[in-house]
Order: sequence, then structure tokens, then C-alpha cells
Amino acid sequence: HVDTAVNFAKKQGRNNFQFYTEKLSADMVRRLQVENGLRRALERQELEVHYQAKVSLASEEIIGCEALLRWKSADLGFVSPVEFIPVAEETGLIVPIGEWVLKQSLRQLDLWMQAGLPPIRVGVNLSARQFREPQLAAKIMLALEEAGVGAELLELELTESMLVENADEAIQALWALKGLGITLSIDDFGTGYSSLSYLKRFPIDELKIDRSFVKDIPDSADDMSITKAIISMARSLEMKLVAEGIETRDQAAFLRDNGCHTGQGYLFAKPLPPDGFLQLFTAQKQLASNDDLPLAALG
Ligand code: C2E
Ligand code: MG
Ligand code: MG
Ligand code: MG
Repeated sequence: HVDTAVNFAKKQGRNNFQFYTEKLSADMVRRLQVENGLRRALERQELEVHYQAKVSLASEEIIGCEALLRWKSADLGFVSPVEFIPVAEETGLIVPIGEWVLKQSLRQLDLWMQAGLPPIRVGVNLSARQFREPQLAAKIMLALEEAGVGAELLELELTESMLVENADEAIQALWALKGLGITLSIDDFGTGYSSLSYLKRFPIDELKIDRSFVKDIPDSADDMSITKAIISMARSLEMKLVAEGIETRDQAAFLRDNGCHTGQGYLFAKPLPPDGFLQLFTAQKQLASNDDLPLAALG
């Protein structure tokens, strides 16, 4: 489709043509740089996992966390996962990288517990490529054993599109994972094409309401209705609910009052490196009896 874009640009005249080709080649160069950088990111130890708190909206206590990959490239500087995860997915590099994130997160959980933290669940994002791997459940079981962490402390975040494509295979894969005792969660819920009644066919424990519905609460009446509908339907199917991208007190209160159990967002904490997360957790425990200090003050 590069060809068509170039032909299109040609028809628009010389200047546009030059503009388009320059833009195209700049994009392609960047894409190649990201791909080449990613190939060496693991061995160069440029990857790091950060952890964002998941908080009970009723008590504002940390009840879990999400593992989020960070990459500081020697050549490119910080690159956002929004840019590099799709490249990792297209090239297949997400398979070894995703495995590393899983192992790293479980190891970290074990270290935190050794440091005295109570057991909390860690959510790891799973890519479509990983989900299609026949050996996925076996690999995960091995990773849990190696880290000495119970399966009940691991949650996998999948997306709707992964279930919709090849639904029958997906159901089998999900049951294999469920069989290990892992929690299964649907990330970015509401942005895909699946309905809740469709999702009922899958052994899903939790829905994460996408940030796009949360961000305009309380200004958008539509988003508030949609959010309420998702919450009440998910509750009737006995699924747990997490709202992502909570940035304001109003949003947290609205979601809590309408029955959403758990929240995640900058209001409570940004994704933090391991020691930062440990400090946040420890500080929260010491302040647990002090109602005047919202958790947000710590993050
Ligand atoms: P996600 O799984 O939906 O993760 C939530 C994203 O929202 C994270 O972006 C997080 O930093 C951001 N976020 C959290 N709270 C707020 C908030 O209050 N406001 C705003 N504006 N943003 C908030 P991040 O870390 O840039 O990751 C982007 C996406 O990249 C993730 O979306 C996930 O799809 C993917 N990703 C990240 N790490 C991994 C990984 O290890 N494996 C895979 N397969 N995908 C990953
Ligand atoms: Mg996620
Ligand atoms: Mg999400
Ligand atoms: Mg999202």
C-alpha cells in the first residue's frame, strides 16, 4: 500500500509528492529503528517492568497491580509501549519479550512477599501471538513453579479481539489457563466488537472498562450510561470489574457508587518501578487508619 500512497501523492503534484515520500520514509526508518532496537533490547537489558496499583474503590487499599513494560533504548531513548508493542507483535519478538515480562513479574512478586508485603495479584498483559502459542499454559505453569508463586496470584489481561478470532480455539486455550488457577481478565473492554452475552461463553473472571469511557465522566452523559450498563451486566454475570484510567475523585466516586469494585489510574498511582511500588504499598499500610490522607497523595 506504500505504492498506492506514492501514486496518490504524485497526482497531488510535486510538492505534495515530496512531502508524502519524506513522511513515508521517515516513518519507515523509525519503524526499522524500533524493530532493530527491540531485537537487542533483552540482551542489552534495556527493558524494565513497572507496576501500577489496582485499588479497591470502597477502601482505597491496593489489592493488586498491573505489570507494564518500559523500554529505554540506548539509541532511541524512551519508547512508548504504544509504539513498540505493535512492532514486537508483528515481528514475533513479543513471544520472548512477553515471557520475560511474565517471569520478571512473578519474581518481583516473590521478592515483595519476602520483603513482607501481603500476597497481591499481578496482572500481566498477554499478546495475541502469545495466546496462540500451543505451549502457553505449560510455559506459564513452569514460570509459576520457578518463581514459587501460586497461580491464584497471577492474572492475565487479554483483549476482546483475541477471543473473537477463532472462538473455539480461544475457549480451549482459556480453559487450559483457567485449569491452572489463573484469573482471566478482558482488557480495554468496550472498544472491541463483542457483546457481554457473547463473552459469557468464555471463562472470564473480570472486565476492565476502557479508559475512553472513564475519561469524560462526569461530563458525558452517554459515557456514564454506557459505564453503568457495563457494570450492571457484568455484575449479573458475576464478573469482577476494574475501571482503568481514573484521574479524578469524581470518576472514582461515580464508579464506586455504581458498583465497580476496583480502580486503576493516575489518581491513585502511576506505574512505578519495583522499589517505588514497594514504598507506595508500605506507606499505604502505615496510613491505613488515617482517613484524611488519600492514597493519591502518595503516588
Ligand atoms: P493497557 O494494558 O490498557 O494498560 C493501561 C495503560 O494506561 C498503560 O499505558 C498505563 O500507563 C496507562 N494509564 C494508567 N492509568 C492511567 C490514567 O489515569 N490516565 C492515562 N492517561 N493513562 C493511564 P502504557 O504503560 O503506555 O501501556 C500501553 C499499552 O501497551 C497497554 O495498555 C498494553 O496494551 C500494552 N502493554 C504494556 N506492557 C505490555 C506487556 O508487557 N505486554 C503486552 N503484550 N502489552 C503491553
Ligand atoms: Mg492491561
Ligand atoms: Mg487496559
Ligand atoms: Mg486501555
